[in-house]
Amino acid sequence: MDYKKYITVVEDWPKKGVRFKDITTLMDNGTAYKAAVDEIVKYSEDLNIDIVVGPEARGFIVGCPVAYALAIGFAPVRKEGKLPREVIKVNYGLEYGENVLTLHKDAIKPGQRVLITDDLLATGGTIEATIKLVEELGGVVAGCAFLIELTYLNGRDKLEGYDVLTLMKY
Ligand code: 5GP
Repeated sequence: MDYKKYITVVEDWPKKGVRFKDITTLMDNGTAYKAAVDEIVKYSEDLNIDIVVGPEARGFIVGCPVAYALAIGFAPVRKEGKLPREVIKVNYGLEYGENVLTLHKDAIKPGQRVLITDDLLATGGTIEATIKLVEELGGVVAGCAFLIELTYLNGRDKLEGYDVLTLMKY
């Protein structure tokens, strides 16, 4: 499927010079959203995944339907202060300042095979931080799946040695 025709490129948002890839116009088309999810499910079937992990908020949009289709669990990665029980944390750099991501300490059992999902791979900072959380708990990152990859930001360089699927490239 030509997924790109369902993505809306928004000029100068959230700030001047950025061409934001809006995935909501893919999500609100049932055929396109299902096709994208099905493709990630198909990719995952050979990887023997035990659990899906995705960063808030758009990692949930991709990962939850995949987990449902595979009849496995989903563990949310969230910003600090959002998860109610004991968490592990990772700091990662943003363009301006720092961000903290957290994961419940008991979300993953050692040796579990994990699929990480997000909507978009840009610099790779978010996914690198998510991988750190998963690996700190002893999870094995079996694959990473994204709807979109911005190849010019070289996020793949941070994912060397990991299996990566992206459905669209810009
Ligand atoms: P990275 O950490 O790889 O630099 O940025 C990826 C994260 O930023 C993802 O969680 C993604 O949701 C968000 N993001 C950055 N740029 C865009 C964009 O153009 N469109 C969408 N939908 N998300 C973006």
